[in-house]
Amino acid sequence: ESARQGFIAANPQSERQYRQATEVMPGGNTRSVLFYEPFPLAIARGEGCRLWDVDGHEYADFIAEFSAGIYGHSNPSIRAAIDKALDDGINLSGHNLLEARLAQALCERFPSIESVRFTNSGTEANLMMLAAAKAFTGRQKVIVFIGGYHGGVLTFARGPSSVNVPHEFLYAEYNDLDSVRRLFDEHRGEVAAVLVEPMQGASGCIVAEASFLAGLRELTSAHDTLLLFDEVMTSRLAPAAYQSVLGIAPDMTSVGKYIGGGMSFGAFGGRKDIMSLFDPRIRNALQHAGTFNNNVLTMAAGYAGLTSVYTPQAAVELNARGERLRATLNTRFEEASLDIRFNGIGSLMNLQITARTIRSVRDIDASRNDIKDLFFFHLIEHGVYIARRGYVVLSLPVGSAELERFDGAVASFIDRYRNLL
Ligand code: PLP
Repeated sequence: ESARQGFIAANPQSERQYRQATEVMPGGNTRSVLFYEPFPLAIARGEGCRLWDVDGHEYADFIAEFSAGIYGHSNPSIRAAIDKALDDGINLSGHNLLEARLAQALCERFPSIESVRFTNSGTEANLMMLAAAKAFTGRQKVIVFIGGYHGGVLTFARGPSSVNVPHEFLYAEYNDLDSVRRLFDEHRGEVAAVLVEPMQGASGCIVAEASFLAGLRELTSAHDTLLLFDEVMTSRLAPAAYQSVLGIAPDMTSVGKYIGGGMSFGAFGGRKDIMSLFDPRIRNALQHAGTFNNNVLTMAAGYAGLTSVYTPQAAVELNARGERLRATLNTRFEEASLDIRFNGIGSLMNLQITARTIRSVRDIDASRNDIKDLFFFHLIEHGVYIARRGYVVLSLPVGSAELERFDGAVASFIDRYRNLL
């Protein structure tokens, strides 16, 4: 309670912004994940990997737009690419010179993506990928996983949700191949696709076991079902996306977030024989429209980012930095004999209030969320901006000053609250 009172006292302008927003937006909010009690901080400005809120506090940015902000707030290459696109006009009403360039860069970078189409968000990319899988297989059912998140209308954190678009979803357990086998047996010849995140991001950076994902590859092939990897979050984890680390080629992949250079973006692609369903020259081609699918700001920023900033080398380095941070923080918790750990891979991690390995969202004890709240308020007080659920993301500009600040804030959290934890 005192942490909460301190937060309120320190942020009068944020509170005012929030009250005004509630007049015209439900709960003052247009993006559910950004709401938290007593009110969310209003961020006024960003530069590099620093943020400033409306009350003038400065933060090291350790959320980086929920992983879309890999380049930081003012990368000169991205900025130059956007400026150039602005100079040439932004609504060109036609095929433009940038879209095939980004498509080529994407296909070269992620080998299982032989052919690709663009969307405005990761959500849309997944919706189109599901449409393609159903059309290609002539089947209707799709296996998804409890705890999965594939976008605002494809959210399975606690099972079915009324905001989801209607699909014939079958719900399996993450990291439990038998639960998938059972669904295949019950729905023989009817399953179009298995849609899976190689790491469940929104549910708390729950890492898939390699044998689970390899088993999905075998099962889907055996049942003539398509394996769809949602790499919207995980494609940053290795130069050729996380699938390259696993050595698994899915039939289709969706990506998004940073690949649009910080602009609204999504893409889906994969095997040429599947993607050719969208070829408008064929009879009964699948329709895929979208006014902004090829918008030049995204195409330009995305191309600059992928080819000259988030190079394969940069991907290796950023994720190694993340691994080191996670190890440092977990050593601190371990040495203090606290059952708290950061889960995750490379530059993506999430606080969990247990020392046990989390294999599924069912292993997360929500009754301990008060500790995550305490952690969040403490870090905010110490100039470290993370997501309320304990989600932490590294971006390219994060350097030793920010990493030391983070580590120091965790050390003082442990000192201050050890008796409560
Ligand atoms: N898929 C995954 C794995 C995600 O993490 C997200 C976003 O957080 C999405 C899909 C949806 O992407 P967008 O928010 O761009 O619609």
